[in-house]
Amino acid sequence: MSLFIFNDPDNFWMCPFDPNHKVLAKRFQYHLVRCAKANPTIRRVKCVFNASHLMRPDELIKHMSTCPDSAVLSGLAKLGMYTTF
Ligand SMILES: [Zn+2]
Ligand SMILES: [Zn+2]
Repeated sequence: MSLFIFNDPDNFWMCPFDPNHKVLAKRFQYHLVRCAKANPTIRRVKCVFNASHLMRPDELIKHMSTCPDSAVLSGLAKLGMYTTF
């Protein structure tokens, strides 16, 4: 899990496979693996931090650890502005 950025593990992030899934940041990696298996036809997912970043599901975890927008969003979430995403 050391790849992952958990600025606030109790934030809710939107699942890239299903926008109805709101996932705790600390559970996100686990959820993503399960949801990828449940949605084998989805080949490109959106970055949680920036919807214009598209990639393969298996690349998402790695991307999120280096995404330049991750610090911005976690800062906004702390201010209660997460819904502007
Ligand atoms: Zn999901
Ligand atoms: Zn990104």
